[in-house]
Amino acid sequence: MPDIACVNGRFGPLADAVVSAEDRGFQFGDGVYEVIRTYHGQPFAIEAHLQRLERSAQALRLSTGHAPAQWISLIHEGLRLSQYPDTKIYLQVTRGQAPRDHPFPHDLAPTTVLTFRELRPFEASTRQVGVNAITVDDIRWGRCDIKSVNLLANVLARQRAKEAGAFEAILVREDLVTEGSVSNVAVVRNGGIQTAPEGNRILSGVTRAIVLEMARKEGLPVSEDFVSRADLFDASEVFLTGTTVEILSVVRVDGRMIGDGRPGAVSRLLSARWNTSVG
Ligand code: PMP
Repeated sequence: MPDIACVNGRFGPLADAVVSAEDRGFQFGDGVYEVIRTYHGQPFAIEAHLQRLERSAQALRLSTGHAPAQWISLIHEGLRLSQYPDTKIYLQVTRGQAPRDHPFPHDLAPTTVLTFRELRPFEASTRQVGVNAITVDDIRWGRCDIKSVNLLANVLARQRAKEAGAFEAILVREDLVTEGSVSNVAVVRNGGIQTAPEGNRILSGVTRAIVLEMARKEGLPVSEDFVSRADLFDASEVFLTGTTVEILSVVRVDGRMIGDGRPGAVSRLLSARWNTSVG
């Protein structure tokens, strides 16, 4: 089967999937999404993702269109049809289709879309060597905790990273590191992990929560306090967390070497624990 999509409950090839030009997701970015991956064919942390979808939707006074059990059965049906060794599952809910007008009608049926695409694992060599990042001003709105499809600031930041030959854009607001354009950011300082606190400045990453829990179990001090720009450059390690990046070491930021320029001991330990837990 090719890549699969499910639009409002109907499955078909992704290439044939369409929504209306009057969909509010298209007109206003009026919608929310999730990205879930599988390990060995099984969706990972599905409950946490569906809870975040619900939280994001509620914050926008949006209905998710399906109850969690329905989402789960649609996900399993898509995985059955697509048959990839590992799959990147994308879920999107928009407020639905209506003549273009900023206020929304209350009786709209949401548009729900799922897509199922092959997830190719990261090159092992990229993980061994680590990646480069640049810093970019965080110009996003005041509710970064909502996983909304309004991603323009993230798009522009990641594009700048790409054009600079870097993997990720680390977003900085008022001299404080918030997160990456597609990931959460953590640093290692004095042997402990420090990362921005949950709240409206960051997306509360599913991977972030699991990694912090893992670190605490390893006896590593964890502090959920904003990291300053200066402390980012001074850190002994910087790493990203996210559904697709998992745990990924950053070895250079704005061309400046982090630590000794190689993935550090803490991120290597956490990566090893991660691999064991999903392996
Ligand atoms: N922050 C942003 C801005 C993201 O886009 C992502 C990826 N969804 C994350 C953090 C990491 O979240 P998660 O671990 O849930 O994939």
